[in-house]
Amino acid sequence: MKCLYCQSELKRGKATFTDSRNGYVIVLQDIPAWVCTQCGEPLFDPGAVAGIQDVLRAVDERVEKLRAVA
Ligand SMILES: [Zn+2]
Repeated sequence: MKCLYCQSELKRGKATFTDSRNGYVIVLQDIPAWVCTQCGEPLFDPGAVAGIQDVLRAVDERVEKLRAVA
């Protein structure tokens, strides 16, 4: 597997996922990922992506609930 950005080798490691969405910023540290040995860009595999989406769905739900507090 090669880096999408610089075509260098990837190795198994951990990376931080950050996203700003739906009115909040989320930072998930130590997520298993393939990390580029050259530029450090992470590539999350399907299992990690599914897990991240699961977390985001749960947070979205609770944020909506929070905003609905009268
Ligand atoms: Zn790279």
